[in-house]
Amino acid sequence: MSDIISDLTDTLREFLEIEQISACILQRGSKNVFEYFTDPDQEKYLRSQISADELRNAASSFADYDVADVSDIQIGENGKIRGLAIRNPDGKVRFVIFLFTDGTDDTQFDRITKVLSESLTTYCNLKEELSQRTDDIRKNRDDISRLERSRRMFKSLSKLTEDINFKVSFDRAADDIIKQSMLCVDPDVSLIVKEDSGVAQIIKQSGSAGTASLGSLNGMPVSDIPFMDGKTYTISSDSIISNEFKQFFAKCGISAGIFVSIGSTEDGLYLCFLKKDSEKTWQSDEISFVRQAGEILRTKVEFAGLSNAVAEADDFIRTVFDNSSSAVAVFDASTKEDLYMNEAAKKLFEDSLNDELFRRQFLIPGPSEDQDKMTGEFAASGTGDIYQVNMTRASQRGGLKVLVFAISDITKQKQYQKKLTESADIDDLTGLYNRHRFHADFETCINDAKRGQGMGSLILLDLDDFNELNDGLGHVLADKFLKKTAWSIQQIVRKEAQCYRVGGDEFAILIPSSDIEEMKKLMQKIQSRFEKPFSLDGNDYYCTAGMGAVNFPQDGDEEDGLLSKADFALHEAKAKGKNKSDIFADVEIKMPPDRLNVEKALREAVADDCREFLVYYQPVVDITNGESRCCGAEALVRWDSHKLGFMPPSKFIPMAEYLGLIIPIGEHVLIEACRTCHHWNEFGHPEYKVNVNLSVLQLLQNDVVHTIANALKVSGIEPDNLVLEVTEGMAINDMDKIKRVLEDIHELGVRFALDDFGTGYSSLSHMKQLPLDELKIDKCFIDDIDSDSYSDAFVRSVSQLADAVDLNVVVEGVEREKQQDVLKNMDVDMIQGFLYDKPLPKDQFEKRWL
Ligand code: C2E
Ligand code: CA
Ligand code: CA
Repeated sequence: MSDIISDLTDTLREFLEIEQISACILQRGSKNVFEYFTDPDQEKYLRSQISADELRNAASSFADYDVADVSDIQIGENGKIRGLAIRNPDGKVRFVIFLFTDGTDDTQFDRITKVLSESLTTYCNLKEELSQRTDDIRKNRDDISRLERSRRMFKSLSKLTEDINFKVSFDRAADDIIKQSMLCVDPDVSLIVKEDSGVAQIIKQSGSAGTASLGSLNGMPVSDIPFMDGKTYTISSDSIISNEFKQFFAKCGISAGIFVSIGSTEDGLYLCFLKKDSEKTWQSDEISFVRQAGEILRTKVEFAGLSNAVAEADDFIRTVFDNSSSAVAVFDASTKEDLYMNEAAKKLFEDSLNDELFRRQFLIPGPSEDQDKMTGEFAASGTGDIYQVNMTRASQRGGLKVLVFAISDITKQKQYQKKLTESADIDDLTGLYNRHRFHADFETCINDAKRGQGMGSLILLDLDDFNELNDGLGHVLADKFLKKTAWSIQQIVRKEAQCYRVGGDEFAILIPSSDIEEMKKLMQKIQSRFEKPFSLDGNDYYCTAGMGAVNFPQDGDEEDGLLSKADFALHEAKAKGKNKSDIFADVEIKMPPDRLNVEKALREAVADDCREFLVYYQPVVDITNGESRCCGAEALVRWDSHKLGFMPPSKFIPMAEYLGLIIPIGEHVLIEACRTCHHWNEFGHPEYKVNVNLSVLQLLQNDVVHTIANALKVSGIEPDNLVLEVTEGMAINDMDKIKRVLEDIHELGVRFALDDFGTGYSSLSHMKQLPLDELKIDKCFIDDIDSDSYSDAFVRSVSQLADAVDLNVVVEGVEREKQQDVLKNMDVDMIQGFLYDKPLPKDQFEKRWL
């Protein structure tokens, strides 16, 4: 055996080197490994992973006359050792070759196994045969040439497989293959024939130029060509063939041929080897070679398709990417070679420093094998521009693993955010810190108090009867008055506390470290200030204030709880009269009455079959193709309470969520909306869809899939006419669970929209894991889209990206013609807003839009 292998060593070594595969060979019964085909370091490592004894055991696990030729042994996390038995024609194991992989690419590994198995078996069999027939000299010569040919085939195949990669064009691959085949198989002509609008077209040809009759293949209808049916045919001169083939061979002057289909049936690509004048009986090694060559070419066709899709010919994708303001770059996951860059990416990486910085940050060593997504920020050299980087690992057809990067310039957003956070903390009117800053500071104070085991206090202050003052003085003077009081409070508390304006005439005073006595003293001081008049433009005005206070952590250590307690104390103080204050610890605890009322009424309304909950409909308008066509509506709930009057969602949805009542209310809205939409669909608008808001709480119910399936059933609506609106907020829950639930619902055929996009914290790439169909951009980005370049850029880039990943974009809250004009120039599909209509009761909606 060793001489067989010795003969092959060089070619085998070359093949394995090209494929970057380590291997070793073991003969059955022999004590030692024949040879390691790898470098000394790797050999040492492999020896440390698996001993010769273990290899021997593995080799002896292949039974003679058995069918199993492959057996895998796991090493380390991902590594694999594959034993491949090479057998005699009678099934006896001749020797075993072990291949090592670190697990990077299974398809590649399988392909290599296949090439080796076929080539080595063929080679060994021939060699065997040869040595058995030394007496027959003529035949011997023949066999030597067959042996030579087999060696050549093996070499050709390894060379051909070597350059399968993303960048080799189909054209070059095809040239290589037919050239190599001419050397190995020796036909008169090799062709690649393509089906083009029902007729055959020769796209490659090699060998003695076609006779006139063979030329007639060009333009021949596919229906007259028996081999163009997606199958593979091997026809020798003495084969018994169908009449169709007989006629076809006669017409084209062919005596024998091998025809291999190398595309899918739609692609209609065939590799053909033809004999014209002489007789030919195809040999098994030739057939096997041709099949493998076909296989290689098929892979190339797929790669070519892929590179088309990503990089080369596919004009559409190219236009999308090239016009995208985001940079898109695709890298080979293992070599880190760049495979594709759109215009924006080329520009970004023009600066070699950027290229190097980016590689260092994101590619070397790059994401780990199991990391499919990655996000980060990248600061460009020189300009200091900031980019948001989103990476997705993708496995392309043909098995090539690539890393796709979408890199978008967020410099403006960053600057804007900075500006916002700077100005976001200050109240315009009084110059005090505002509610936003208050929440942040309050949280810090609570945490500090908890950690340092100290105590902090919060006082809420609300002016008494400010509304009357407001009406009496007029807005301008009332504003001045507010400024003055704000200023006075701040002066009093300045040393030990901070005052915030948290509402129209509401203030919060935060005392980071105090005790109850100190706090009381401060409240006293403030109270006495309000006993005196405030002078404004030469006149004196009186206005008192009520105060409520809590201490933390005594009264609680959570912001919400503390706030409602302070609020409650304030409420109690106000109930006592003017200029009063109360401390939470001192007041008798009872729930604020109006909250209790709402809760009670809400429970009753739900118990009464949700009859008081009405569904209003706001039209959604399709603005693609320059038109404005209504394409459905969003269902929005209203509560017409007989006790409390008509209530908008903002007044009761939060409490309904808190009490869990949103579940029955939501289901009521869902069924009602589905029924209504089904009615529209039946009466002239089969295309209308209805959007229904789904609370996270509903999503987290175990039976949510059933609830939705039931709504579809009882209403009869087509599933894809129902769009469920979910918010980014759901992502703070167990993302895997949410993903599963959404996928199960999506399976029903229902669509999903991501509501209020842009107001949360999650990125589009994070959300992209979910089965979403629409993105609803929040109203706050639209409010001043006609004047603010940040809003413009945000909506523009989000809709571009969304479009590229096949999400429809809906923009909400469009009120003015001008906003619509701006949006029509973006990739926005639909708009919704007062410009078209407010949410309307069902009958009014139908009057206007049906
Ligand atoms: P949303 O889902 O973002 O609904 C859009 C809100 O924007 C609606 O307020 C709508 O009336 C309002 N709107 C639409 N166009 C314009 C416009 O051009 N200008 C202005 N200023 N506003 C516009 P609505 O009906 O008060 O609903 C408020 C929120 O209550 C909804 O926000 C949604 O989060 C929630 N909601 C409403 N119905 C339901 C429901 O059935 N279930 C659940 N879970 N939540 C609901
Ligand atoms: Ca909504
Ligand atoms: Ca919304």
